[in-house]
Order: sequence, then C-alpha cells, then structure tokens
Amino acid sequence: MAKGRVFFDQELCKGCGLCVLVCPVQCLALNRKEINSKGYNPAYCKEPEKCIGCANCGVMCPDSVITVERF
Ligand code: SF4
Ligand code: SF4
Repeated sequence: MAKGRVFFDQELCKGCGLCVLVCPVQCLALNRKEINSKGYNPAYCKEPEKCIGCANCGVMCPDSVITVERF
C-alpha cells in the first residue's frame, strides 16, 4: 500500500534524473516515451504503489516540479 503520492508538473521538468536517484524505493523514472515542450523526457512515477511519501524527490528537485502528498 502506498503511503504517499507524487505529482509532477511535467512541463517544468528538465529530465536531470535527480529525483530518480534519491527515491529510496526506486519508484521514479524518466519517461522515454514522452518529450515535454522543453525537449526533455519528464520524470514520472512508474510504480505509485511503492511510494512511502518521504518527500526526498520533492526536496531534491531543483525546479520544484514535484508535489508530494503524504497519507
Ligand atoms: S516521496 Fe519518496 S518514495 Fe515517494 S516518489 Fe518521492 S522519493 Fe520516492
Ligand atoms: S529532479 Fe525535477 S527536474 Fe530533475 S528529473 Fe526530477 S522532476 Fe525533473
């Protein structure tokens, strides 16, 4: 059961992958099938059920792309 949920403002993402690296449960990834209007593969949550709501990703993101909700 997920303990948190993350939302991405995908148009702001620059595909740096920092959020992917700091997620302790490895539920984030860059979406290779999508390109945003800045020309980057945006990050997304590939396994939402794993999220523990720790907010590491939201703190790490240099562009405040991610909003974390904790249950
Ligand atoms: S809140 Fe924590 S567990 Fe959830 S996606 Fe972000 S880093 Fe991963
Ligand atoms: S840290 Fe922010 S800008 Fe970098 S890939 Fe993740 S959401 Fe995108």
